[in-house]
Amino acid sequence: MDGAVAIQLPNGFWEGGMRHAEAVLRPLNGCDEEFLFEEAAGRSTARRVTALLTRCTLRLGRLSPVSEAQIARLAAGDREALLLHLRRLTFGDRMPAVVSCPGDDCGQKLDLELSASSLLAPAPAETAESYETEVSSDGNSYRVRFRLPTGADQEAAAEAAGRGLQAGVRTLVGRCVTAASTAATHRSAVREVAARDLPETVVAGLSEAMARLDPQAEIELAVECPSCGSRFQALLDAASFLFEEVSGRRRDLYREVHTLALHYHWSEAEILGMPFRRRQRYLGLLREALGEEAAG
Ligand SMILES: [Zn+2]
Repeated sequence: MDGAVAIQLPNGFWEGGMRHAEAVLRPLNGCDEEFLFEEAAGRSTARRVTALLTRCTLRLGRLSPVSEAQIARLAAGDREALLLHLRRLTFGDRMPAVVSCPGDDCGQKLDLELSASSLLAPAPAETAESYETEVSSDGNSYRVRFRLPTGADQEAAAEAAGRGLQAGVRTLVGRCVTAASTAATHRSAVREVAARDLPETVVAGLSEAMARLDPQAEIELAVECPSCGSRFQALLDAASFLFEEVSGRRRDLYREVHTLALHYHWSEAEILGMPFRRRQRYLGLLREALGEEAAG
């Protein structure tokens, strides 16, 4: 299909002990842009990401077509990687972003020149369907098996975070723990522990382990303010970035459809089915042929 490429997911989709790590992704077309700011507008960010990635992911390893349930089960870092690739394929690699300096009495707006490909974390050396770690708390040692947080886990955590940050972290960790057991360090008796009964320090340790294993899940930018010299970390959320960009083009989309239909007499459906860049190519040709004004 038009402009589709194969990319590698950092973690991959696991099913029946098999890892599906290659995804074939196509760029956004006009229908996807319209879908984002119309049909999907009322949904939470995680649900919009799932819906959009399901539309644009043509294949996941050996799986095709790809379902919403499969996309929802991808690790958070894989979804973030897909969004960055989608941004790059649709609008290009350059991502101009603006952040406000949090420095005292500064608030300077800083223009950042980001590139989608440089925000992609290097592939991890080893990946697994689930991981095991040992964390100690109050003289007890906890052995915990867990999987990486998915988009659905992140959404549940964000809802729980309304009751406080700690509740959010506990919800996230609780959903991802598949088995936990404990043994007092100097005794041999091991007993099973429910995820909700894990002590705070163990939950915090697991949360760190998850972040370490899936670095692509959170994109942190190191920024230095040229105005006041503050250094700070800014988080880049690939979904919000892409959604804002698409909704900012809403008026342009219909003007572009209008211009192309007027001159080429293609149907609305044909024009909306074109990837963004192909549409721009024809608009560029029209501008060359008719001059800026006539081609809008
Ligand atoms: Zn500053």
